[in-house]
Amino acid sequence: MELLFLGTGSGVPSKGRNVSAIALQLLEERGATWLFDCGEATQHQILHTSIRPRRIERIFITHLHGDHIFGLPGLLGSRSFQGGETPLFVYGPAGIRSFIETALTVSGTRLKYELHIEEFTEGVVFQDEQFIVTAKLLDHGLPSYGFRIVEKDLPGTLLVDELRALGVKPGSIYQQIKRGELVTLDDGTVIDGRNFVAPPKKGRIVAIMGDTRYCEASVELAKRADVLVHEATFSAEEAHLAHDYYHSTTLQAAEVAKRAEVKQLILTHISSRYQGNMCDQLVEEAKTIFPNVALAFDFSSFPIIRKGNDEG
Ligand SMILES: [Zn+2]
Ligand SMILES: [Zn+2]
Repeated sequence: MELLFLGTGSGVPSKGRNVSAIALQLLEERGATWLFDCGEATQHQILHTSIRPRRIERIFITHLHGDHIFGLPGLLGSRSFQGGETPLFVYGPAGIRSFIETALTVSGTRLKYELHIEEFTEGVVFQDEQFIVTAKLLDHGLPSYGFRIVEKDLPGTLLVDELRALGVKPGSIYQQIKRGELVTLDDGTVIDGRNFVAPPKKGRIVAIMGDTRYCEASVELAKRADVLVHEATFSAEEAHLAHDYYHSTTLQAAEVAKRAEVKQLILTHISSRYQGNMCDQLVEEAKTIFPNVALAFDFSSFPIIRKGNDEG
């Protein structure tokens, strides 16, 4: 599992930063890539990475501002042109369907794969046996959502060495033990399967916020996440601008991270007014509130490691 930032600028593209898009690489987990937002020229950014458009399985859209969706029609078309045949799911706020369908229809773009567009409000956006993705409304000029992506816990492995030491040989009995049942051995001893299974492996939690002012919903979505991706369009001293334009400052993003008790904060959606050393300054500001901060650049990647078996 890895976050790969494809665009980290706010509003309009600059030479250093393209507009918003983030890939959540789930290659080991499910051989797929999920995208969060798809600003203009996201497909061009993808050309500089190992991402295969045909592997993009789901696209989650935080809100309908142009810097988060104008790359969709092009990417959807190219995915088809490049041989993508597996279904693609796009989740977005109300309006995403008419945006996509209009763009595809008027341009005569025909897709060779099934495109499923789902408009969501708050609550569960997607769920299967591996992941659950939920959304909450944030505080922005247009309805903007944050996502909490939770990987479900993996069942613990069977403690084979301990069973062997007791003389329990592999066979169908291992399945009963793994289910945590009481099992009678050949010699009449009864063992409790639960004592021979390691604790479940904790799933990882990633929280990705759309554009927003500082708000409670962000804290709730990010609660104890391994990684929180939060916008920091402005520096601390531009708090009035952040408020007026429905964005956040470095300090506000850090405050969310601190209150949510996340492990790591990644700042993105950075205004083009901050270049070079000024970006270090943004990180230092955030660190005055929350220690583990990184600022994303285009093509920054952050692996999300599964922690051991700690119950934390
Ligand atoms: Zn934006
Ligand atoms: Zn916006």
